[in-house]
Amino acid sequence: MSGVAEGNSENQKRWKTLGKEVAVKIVSSDEKVAHGLVYIQEWTHPQRVKRSIQWGLIFLGIALFCVFIPILHFVLVPLFLLVAPVAAYSTYTREKVVLGGTGHCPKCLEVLPIEKSSVDWPIRDLCTRCQTAVQIFPADKAILNREYLLNRNQKGNRMNWSVFFATFTTIFIAELGDKTQFAAFAASAQSKSTVSVWLGTVVALAFAGTLGVLAGSFIGKYISPEKMKILSGGAFIVMGIWILFKKN
Ligand SMILES: [Zn+2]
Repeated sequence: MSGVAEGNSENQKRWKTLGKEVAVKIVSSDEKVAHGLVYIQEWTHPQRVKRSIQWGLIFLGIALFCVFIPILHFVLVPLFLLVAPVAAYSTYTREKVVLGGTGHCPKCLEVLPIEKSSVDWPIRDLCTRCQTAVQIFPADKAILNREYLLNRNQKGNRMNWSVFFATFTTIFIAELGDKTQFAAFAASAQSKSTVSVWLGTVVALAFAGTLGVLAGSFIGKYISPEKMKILSGGAFIVMGIWILFKKN
C-alpha cells in the first residue's frame, strides 16, 4: 500500500511542476459527490509548433533508421513515414492534457487515482474497488462552461481516429489493384531504383489525396452538411459497385 502512495506523491510532484492544479467534483451515477484534484498541462501556440516538429522529426528519424533493417524496411519505412505527419498533427492540435490526479470514490470513499486523459469534460473513470462508474467535472463551473464552448467550436478540426481509419480503409481498398498501383508496378518493373519509384508513388498519391481533401472541404463550405452526406455516401456506394464489377 505504501508503495502505491509513494508512487502517487512522486507523480504528484511531477504533475505540479508541469501543470496547474484544478479542483474537481467526482460524481457517481446515483448523484453522490466527492472531491479531487487534477493537474492540467497547457501548451502555448509556439510550444505546440515546437513539439509537433520534434515528434515529426523523431518519427522521420526512426523511418530513416529503418531503411537499414533488411526486408522489414519495406513495411517499417512507409509505416513511420505515415506516422510522422499524423503524430506531428495530433501533437499540434493538442492544447492541453490532464496529466493525472487523485480524488475519492463518492460511493466507497476509497482513493481514486485519476489517469492521464484528454481535457474532455466530464472525464469518465471507474472505481477499481467498488466498480462504480464516475464522471469528473471541474469544481469551478466557469471552467466547465468555457471549455465546453471551446470544445464545441474546435471539435470539427480535431484528430478523429475513427474517421482516420474509415478513410484509410476506404482509400486503401479503392487503390488496391487500381490503375495507380499498376502504373507503380510497371515503373518498378522497368527501373532498378525501387526506392525512387516507391518514393515517387507515395509523394504523388499524397499530393493527389491532399488535393481531394482540400477540394472536399472547399465544396463543403457551399453545400449543406446533409447534402454533402448524401453526395459523399452516394460516391462511396458508386465506387464500391465499380470496384465489385470492374474486374469482370
Ligand atoms: Zn468506489
